[in-house]
Amino acid sequence: MGKVAFNALAAGVKRAAVIGAGAMGGGIAAQFANAGILVDLIDIPGGDGNRNGPAEAGIARQVKTGGFMSAEAATLVRAGNTEDHLDRVAEADWIVEAIIEDLGAKRDLYARLEAVRKDGSSVSSNTSTIRREALVEGLGARFNRDFVISHFFNPPRHMQLLEIVSGPASDLAGVERLRRAGRQVLGKTVVDCRDTPGFIANRIGCYWMAMAVLEAQRQGLTVEEADAVISAFGVPATGVFGLLDLIGIDLIPLVWGRLVETLPATDGFQSYDLAASALSQQMNAAGRLGRKSGAGFYRKAKDGSREALDLAAQSYRPLDRPAKPGDLRDLIEGGGKLGTYAWTVLSRLVTYTANVADEIAHDLPSIDTAVALGYGWREGPFRQADRVGADYIAKQLAAAGEAVPDLIAKAARDGGFYPKATRAGTTRAAVLAENEAAVLQDAGDGLGLFRIKTKMGVFSPEVFDLLDHAIGQAGGRLSALVLAPGNARAFSAGADLARFLELAEDPALLDAFLARGQATFAALRGVPIPVVAAVRGLALGGGCEVTLHADRVVAHAEASFGLPETRLGILPGWGGTTRMFQRLSDPATGMVGPAAVAARTVDLLLPGPMTRSAAEARALHLLRPEDEIVMHVDDVEPAAIGIARAMAADYKPPVDALLAVAGPAGMAGALNATRAHHAAGRIDGRVLAIAEDLARVVTGGATGDPSRPMPEGDMLALERAAVLRMAARDETRAAMYATLKR
Ligand code: NAD
Repeated sequence: MGKVAFNALAAGVKRAAVIGAGAMGGGIAAQFANAGILVDLIDIPGGDGNRNGPAEAGIARQVKTGGFMSAEAATLVRAGNTEDHLDRVAEADWIVEAIIEDLGAKRDLYARLEAVRKDGSSVSSNTSTIRREALVEGLGARFNRDFVISHFFNPPRHMQLLEIVSGPASDLAGVERLRRAGRQVLGKTVVDCRDTPGFIANRIGCYWMAMAVLEAQRQGLTVEEADAVISAFGVPATGVFGLLDLIGIDLIPLVWGRLVETLPATDGFQSYDLAASALSQQMNAAGRLGRKSGAGFYRKAKDGSREALDLAAQSYRPLDRPAKPGDLRDLIEGGGKLGTYAWTVLSRLVTYTANVADEIAHDLPSIDTAVALGYGWREGPFRQADRVGADYIAKQLAAAGEAVPDLIAKAARDGGFYPKATRAGTTRAAVLAENEAAVLQDAGDGLGLFRIKTKMGVFSPEVFDLLDHAIGQAGGRLSALVLAPGNARAFSAGADLARFLELAEDPALLDAFLARGQATFAALRGVPIPVVAAVRGLALGGGCEVTLHADRVVAHAEASFGLPETRLGILPGWGGTTRMFQRLSDPATGMVGPAAVAARTVDLLLPGPMTRSAAEARALHLLRPEDEIVMHVDDVEPAAIGIARAMAADYKPPVDALLAVAGPAGMAGALNATRAHHAAGRIDGRVLAIAEDLARVVTGGATGDPSRPMPEGDMLALERAAVLRMAARDETRAAMYATLKR
């Protein structure tokens, strides 16, 4: 079994079980496995001779739809069925129920679980519409104490929200354990909700969709106009009609209809009964169910162009998208059809949310967090209201003769739902040094945080300037250094390709550019203080190479690592090729002898590996066993800081090793696999030439000598020479220009 995710076991869930292997249960089981936790996935018995068939199909579906972060993770899920294997839940600390949305079926299952689960284990339901109170009724005190609702979003690997509903009889320590496991094992942001229909995100989100759709129709907007206005709210480009197409219009009666049924007659939700609307009924009757049926509010015409539904005529016409509006407040103040609609949507959203806030949530941030993460909004409703101005909203409501909810009136008086005084609560780390491309911050006690500020974290000369400066502070001002992400999407996308192409016109300049990267990264590796890379998003090319020089990498589970250089016709030239060779020389990787290591390095780097997870990076040795994988994205940097501080106590930098190389005689062996691919016509001559360049570097070049291990610096020089040679090829430049244009 592989290594468990960082800090995952500390939550107290060492083993899990999931009942129901559908879209959600399979995805939740996969996410446990992604953290390295063993999980039983149990469904009803199959009728076709394979009694575990339904659970196995659930695992297979996750493999196919990308629920697993690595092939290894899939091996941690054990398939079973409710007739033969329910006793397996006795081993689980957390049992998640994700079977069909049927109160009777769920309660029957709970009664059976009660007989087999161990004392102190927790049971949770993934129900989206049933209240906790109804689920526990009559099931006894033990169950009531250990049961919560754990509401995940689809797909469970990628949706960051986890809503939890506990009850008055809940065991507090048990609930706290699930909150921690939700974060540390499953990587979710946990929001506590009150026990009300739809919990937080769907209560607000479904209201918003129903209201926005029916108001668009009432006010005579086209679907494109409405979706364009909605985009000014910082929501995904699908808008609201596009989102309904994605969810499926056949779900309107089930989801919206059910909420209307369960919510009291006085609830604002009742003013927008989408399920009972003529629009929903017409569309369902016509089989216009959205993407699953090929046509909904939008469709692709036969000639491939996009069409939109005319809401009044119920027929399709060519898409006519208005310009994307800018700022929401400007849009509202601009008036007209679009401005009026924007005001309606904003004011209704904020009014409804304010009216139900106390009923559904313990505090306002819970609502903003749940809606933003559950629906992919940049900000939740109260934060949006603050951006437009709570006082402005209150005034406009009053002027229109509409009731101003107490919460909005209070926010107007206080200067916002989040008044500025409390908003500025986070203290910024002091800046030790900064230029236009990077910043070095002080996290206290001599721990430096180095952040790249360039777009996608690309390495410009100024980044190297500041990194050199930080290296110069090692042992003096700094006792540890964390390379922290400068933005959410990328740790670093490496060298700037446009700049590389410019430099490639002059071999002397290109060589200096390569030498600079190599020297800085080598110095980083050699500093007398620990260097820890905290990686989220992309670490590509030079961005990956810098992590290869760190003492430790702490990576978000969803981080992508890659050395795609060969795809452009070059090889990793800031020490990456040498570092990978040295890494694979470690007998722990299973490679013995310089020829085998050279062959493995070529085979690994030739395809230009790019991973979709940290686990895949570990399988390719881009991460080492001692590097850590962190499930929650916001925990990556704090974990890296903690590890760097702990390492600082008695730190010794790695010494430059002498590298055993195979020499020219090893070339043939290093190219064995590649030559076979070439002979079989699977790769062309251009790729074979790249493989030869790689092989020449990692066998030690023309003067490589198996009897004389080579200093690292010599292999670095070979690396540089190879890139210079390769960059001069016409095919290489063509590939680079093509990539730049894309
Ligand atoms: P699904 O229909 O894809 O899967 C349900 C699975 O449960 C099926 O494999 C079925 O064979 C199995 N099952 C049914 N009865 C069972 C029983 N008695 N014992 C064991 N297995 C049984 O459903 P889903 O979309 O995965 O939803 C599961 C739960 O999660 C429901 O409560 C649903 O409301 C909730 N939910 C769904 C979503 C979503 O977007 N799909 C989101 C949040 C919550």
